[in-house]
Amino acid sequence: MYSPALRNSAPPEREKAFFGYVAVVCAVALAIVIPALPELRGVPTHSPATYWLLAVLAVVADLRPFPPPGGQRSVVFPSICFTFAILLMWGFEAAVVVQTAAVVASAVRMQHRPWRAAFNAAQYALAFGAAAAVLLATEGEPFAPGGKPGWTDVGLALAAAGVWFLVNNVLVTTAVALRFGGSWWRALGENLADDALTTGSLLLLAPVLVGTTRASAALIPLVIVPLLAVNRMARLSSEQNRAARTDPLTRLANRKALQIEVGDHISACARRTSVDNREHRFALMILDIDRFKYVNDALGHAVGDRLLVEIAQRIDRAVPDGNLVARLGGDEFAIVAPDIDNLDDARAAASAIAGVLSVPVVLDGMTLDVGGSIGIAIFPTHGDDFETLLRHADVAMYDAKARGDAVAVYAPEVDHNSPDRLSLLADLRLALENTDSSEVMFYYQPQVEMATGAVVGVEALLRWHHPHKGLIDPEELIRVAEHSGVMRMLTLRVVDDVVGQLAKWRANGLTMRAAINVSVRDLHTGEVVDRLVEQLDHYDVAPEYVQMEITEGALMADPRRVLATLQRLDTLGVALSLDDFGTGYSSMQHLRRLPLSEVKIDRSFVLGMADDPDDDAIVRSMIDLAGALNLRVVAEGVEDDRTRRLLVGAGCHVAQGWYYARPMPADELASWLARYRPPEQFAWPATDRARDDDVA
Ligand code: C2E
Ligand code: MG
Ligand code: MG
Repeated sequence: MYSPALRNSAPPEREKAFFGYVAVVCAVALAIVIPALPELRGVPTHSPATYWLLAVLAVVADLRPFPPPGGQRSVVFPSICFTFAILLMWGFEAAVVVQTAAVVASAVRMQHRPWRAAFNAAQYALAFGAAAAVLLATEGEPFAPGGKPGWTDVGLALAAAGVWFLVNNVLVTTAVALRFGGSWWRALGENLADDALTTGSLLLLAPVLVGTTRASAALIPLVIVPLLAVNRMARLSSEQNRAARTDPLTRLANRKALQIEVGDHISACARRTSVDNREHRFALMILDIDRFKYVNDALGHAVGDRLLVEIAQRIDRAVPDGNLVARLGGDEFAIVAPDIDNLDDARAAASAIAGVLSVPVVLDGMTLDVGGSIGIAIFPTHGDDFETLLRHADVAMYDAKARGDAVAVYAPEVDHNSPDRLSLLADLRLALENTDSSEVMFYYQPQVEMATGAVVGVEALLRWHHPHKGLIDPEELIRVAEHSGVMRMLTLRVVDDVVGQLAKWRANGLTMRAAINVSVRDLHTGEVVDRLVEQLDHYDVAPEYVQMEITEGALMADPRRVLATLQRLDTLGVALSLDDFGTGYSSMQHLRRLPLSEVKIDRSFVLGMADDPDDDAIVRSMIDLAGALNLRVVAEGVEDDRTRRLLVGAGCHVAQGWYYARPMPADELASWLARYRPPEQFAWPATDRARDDDVA
């Protein structure tokens, strides 16, 4: 999991704390060992041959230490079985000297740095010191050669082994937590059971060894067989642990390892923040391979697998030391980039990865052009736990894909899946499924012909009174619903309600046109038109009374996709209106070729035109342009008489806005119409007519 560069050192920002700790542990160990040294008068006088045999076995055993049960912990030295026996028989000083010799021998063989060997020696010295303190409670020298341990003595030996394990584990856990960051408790708990079994069997073999020496020192080498068994067990457990965190195909970290790594970074950032009061960040990126599915489908899974391995290696080579690359499954990878200070750094790191993926992969002489899309979430800005960061990086990745970009940083605006939004959508679906509910209804806003002041139509506008959240902003709601199946239900409901309403008004002697807003996605299939035709037939309403509004941005993004539906509507006699005109990018060609009847100038320009000469100029040029293309022009957002007069002067055909009326429930329209007086043209302020702004 950690870069090999860290095997013999610590990350720069943790160096001070980690090496400070190593120094303190070494100093404390020296402080207890040095006073004890005079006690060591050469080789113990009791059974020196047995002592030498155990000492040699300890040093030899450590030439092949047991692999650590957990990925990050230090190795287990099998010598402790012999040195613990030495502790029981000859005491602390004898044990420490042999243990230190064994540690030094294995450090030389494994090319450990001196600080590491010193720490291991010190860690054992302290563990032996604590165990020796427990044994002091034993009366006499029951374990010494010739002594006879009773049940109590064996109990004390067990307690000493327990204390040895505890002290050793606390020292190692602290070193691991300081060196790699992450939670101390998690580092302690990690693989504690496996560790206890491995180390425990070594320590408890020691009293057995003591008993064996009583019978004959020749029996001692036989202990090597159980030691080999414990070694094998430790190795298997270590491999199992590694496998549980590795993706078998690419040999990268898997999702579990990623979760642990992210958890460690979160704790480390929090700890650093508590020290220096600054925000510490890291980035989690999700990368999805573009077009991988086609390779898999066309060339088979074997080629797909080889492609994934190649891609995994490229990503791994492209990221700096200290970054973790994981495979989440399928063609999805994740990268944890620590020490990211700002968004630019994160983007640059992601672009570097995208760069290496843009180079085609050659497999079996075939050139595969893949590439990838990367989503970035930054801790803590975009989430402070693993799940949130992962979800947000995923949202950003889909955003990058949707926009055709290689890299995107998470932005809440593009997150259509936030829990709030999902629950809102679920509520809207329920409200729409229940046709008796009055939660969802449509308000109607009149449209007035500027030349005559006559009301020529209305626009149907969605209103949803959520039972707990009150009135929901329709614009925001449509943005969320547009990416879900709820949009289709909503549009079908507008069609039903509006055509039904037109029939009701007609029955009351009111004939006028009603405009329906449709999302461009609704027009990808002909379903909306089928429903419209069905309703028009059912209520016997002529198609000329219905108009469809489509926003400019959405329509112009991909006009060809909906052309067939637009032509069908046109043939049917349903007029098409380009809504929010001026906010998207219409090409002249499309404006000319699409079967449009009118453009609606976006209210953002109309609202400002009385005060802002730029807005005024923009509105005028849009009116001229529409006139040249023979399109009717509707201005929305007309709030005052000055704006109205400017629009009349500019040649605008129809106006809609609060100056005339706010959107209102259908059954209020008749009374509003009865009170409505067309405004005086141009010169006279509208003082002598009923102002009906506040009808709704
Ligand atoms: P839109 O289609 O451009 O609708 C015009 C918006 O301008 C409406 O906002 C209307 O209330 C507002 N408006 C009208 N006159 C004035 C005015 O004088 N001043 C100001 N400041 N605003 C004015 P609303 O009702 O909030 O609707 C917002 C948007 O939500 C609509 O913009 C439309 O894009 C969408 N929408 C509403 N109902 C539906 C629907 O049933 N289906 C779909 N697909 N979209 C809808
Ligand atoms: Mg509209
Ligand atoms: Mg509009």
